[in-house]
Amino acid sequence: MSSPPPQTSPVNTNINGSAGKAAPAADPRRAKLEADKRAKRLRRQVGQAIADYQMIEGGDRVMVCLSGGKDSYTMLDMLLALREAAPVDFELFAVNLDQKQPGFPEHVLPEYLRERGVPFHILEQDTYSVVQRVLPEGKTQCGLCSRLRRGALYRYAHENGYNKIALGHHLDDIVETLFLNLFHGGRMAAMPPKLKSNDGRNVVIRPLAYCRQADTQAYSEEQGFPIIPCTLCGSQPNLQRVTIRRMLQDWDRTQPDRVYKIFRAIQHVAPSQLADRELFDFAGLRVDGEAGEADPWLDAPEPDTGPAPGVIPLRPV
Ligand code: SF4
Repeated sequence: MSSPPPQTSPVNTNINGSAGKAAPAADPRRAKLEADKRAKRLRRQVGQAIADYQMIEGGDRVMVCLSGGKDSYTMLDMLLALREAAPVDFELFAVNLDQKQPGFPEHVLPEYLRERGVPFHILEQDTYSVVQRVLPEGKTQCGLCSRLRRGALYRYAHENGYNKIALGHHLDDIVETLFLNLFHGGRMAAMPPKLKSNDGRNVVIRPLAYCRQADTQAYSEEQGFPIIPCTLCGSQPNLQRVTIRRMLQDWDRTQPDRVYKIFRAIQHVAPSQLADRELFDFAGLRVDGEAGEADPWLDAPEPDTGPAPGVIPLRPV
């Protein structure tokens, strides 16, 4: 699949705390121009992420997980557009898990997918009752709910021969997860753009890994996707994640390129500059006359090398 060149020009992405409400169309022509630029940017970023991590190859059977939220609709839309232009053939199949939450509008996704001509399956599993039964009232349910959902989707993919599972997590989700693990898990780990599941039966891909949430939000509004809210269950959001999201939103207001730089850091890890003995052989370091690596305590930091391929800062760096 071809890799569109990285864009380095300024973009007018909405980065305020509302996390991407589409800009009011005071001037319809300008709004249309912005919408077109956003759509192109999203397509380019998705194409670049797919190419960089070799997410999709010819002959792949890709199961697209569609929750009915803005990100999964955007992902499906992007993948459909990319497939049209891709030099290789791959299959796209949408799957939604109906978790039996009260008030879940069962007709919405089938109607949308039929209209778009996308083959799909609605998987029914009452994870809602399980979560309600197992967790005490008032406790955040999202962790268990997500694990049950993931299990059901992974199983379906395996049983039906889908070798890739596409999830709609974006760059903001990846950076949020890094801080969740850092602040609350004592681990430096984020959410990879591509990963093999624990049991080795599935490869998960995240085609929106280079996309900002503000863009998926605005794109979703512009496209008029029939959104199904993820609050039908009545669960309280995970407060730790909410706090981190607010932190990122504050940074977007005051330091517009910071979140992007953090993501870039996730792409450029220096094991010898950390302290993980499993990642780097500190015990084996010997004087051998060869040049060693720069010590940040003694040496000046390396110059900023500019944007990583395909990752677009909210403002020019
Ligand atoms: S908000 Fe409800 S449906 Fe969504 S992940 Fe949390 S518990 Fe599950």
